[in-house]
Amino acid sequence: MQIAIPKEIKNHEYRVALTPTGARELIGRGHGVTVQAGAGEGAGFADDAYEAAGARIEADVAKVWDSAELILKVKEPQSEEVKRLKSGQTLFTYLHLAAEESLTRGLIDSGVTCIAYETITDRQGGLPLLAPMSTVAGRMAIQAGAHSLEKAQGGSGVLLPGVPGVAPARVAVIGGGVVGENAARMALGLGAEVTVLDKSIPRLEVLDDRYQGRMKTVFSTADAIDEAVRESDLIVGAVLIPGAAAPKLITRAMLADMKPGSVLVDVAIDQGGCFETSKATTHAEPTYIVDGVVHYCVANMPGAVARTSTQALTNATLPYIIALADKGWKQALADDPHFLPGLNVHNGQVTYRAVADAFGLES
Ligand code: NAD
Repeated sequence: MQIAIPKEIKNHEYRVALTPTGARELIGRGHGVTVQAGAGEGAGFADDAYEAAGARIEADVAKVWDSAELILKVKEPQSEEVKRLKSGQTLFTYLHLAAEESLTRGLIDSGVTCIAYETITDRQGGLPLLAPMSTVAGRMAIQAGAHSLEKAQGGSGVLLPGVPGVAPARVAVIGGGVVGENAARMALGLGAEVTVLDKSIPRLEVLDDRYQGRMKTVFSTADAIDEAVRESDLIVGAVLIPGAAAPKLITRAMLADMKPGSVLVDVAIDQGGCFETSKATTHAEPTYIVDGVVHYCVANMPGAVARTSTQALTNATLPYIIALADKGWKQALADDPHFLPGLNVHNGQVTYRAVADAFGLES
């Protein structure tokens, strides 16, 4: 199968859909891989590395798209990319269509088969192609929070681990899923005092068992959040209610109860954010201050660590890409009931219920 890797064109997107290592695996199975010149540069993968893996480098973007049966991307196609799509092609990427009506309609009109990373499931009920980016964002949340606590960033000037004779900082993580566990793990590793709040008892049981009491687990209630607000130096927002906007768990009025220079890192900002005062920021200007509390609300955190994120993404997507390339999309989806929910648009129709419902379309 002919597989194309275009260069991502979304603002500040440095990831690429496939590493040279991934390209080598596909080429070894008899597939052709065309990489747009410079596509891997932002993630530290030079054209030479793809060539050494056996891929073809193509400078002409139109030829990259035209020649492909399967197109691999990271972000949803931008409007000029939608125009390049041709009926009969398969597109495999993050789509997040429920929030993008005009993109959805463009993909319907394109006649392309669109498979979204984010709606593929696994046997445990998880989202295996979202998890690697949540892992990255969770780990980054503590780096970002630690930096934001520095005085020059408007923070309280508290060092997360403390030093001998000075107590460590208190970190609360609201939501103990993939993001939350990874944030908590990083904070523990740095020596902070960590509390995780979640509404799911089974999830708290997993964390309690896994970390053997080294982090506190607390059932998430309004009282528990009030206490976290009063006590914490750093709070990470990592809640998710699937298919819904994040609940506003910390209101503006509650900021008055926080220590001056405390930090809120709202990882859930891509779902609207779980703090009332959150508004999406960028890596260029990641923080702002409201009522003396530093807010970090970057919506695409993994983009800042494009190399690690690209490697993690290829590790997770490669088995699915191999299935698509070896068997064709129809057979690959028919063989795997967890791959099937990835199908979002086919033959001019939305095939994923939540997306169809969002825009009153038939599915
Ligand atoms: P997840 O489903 O693994 O975990 C979410 C957790 O939140 C669950 O354990 C759930 O029980 C818990 N929860 C729900 N309501 C709660 C409440 N009121 N109080 C406490 N806990 C509650 O999801 P995830 O993969 O960890 O993602 C978390 C959020 O991070 C999502 O909004 C996701 O989109 C976002 N995210 C953002 C970025 C970024 O760059 N900003 C990157 C990756 C993920």
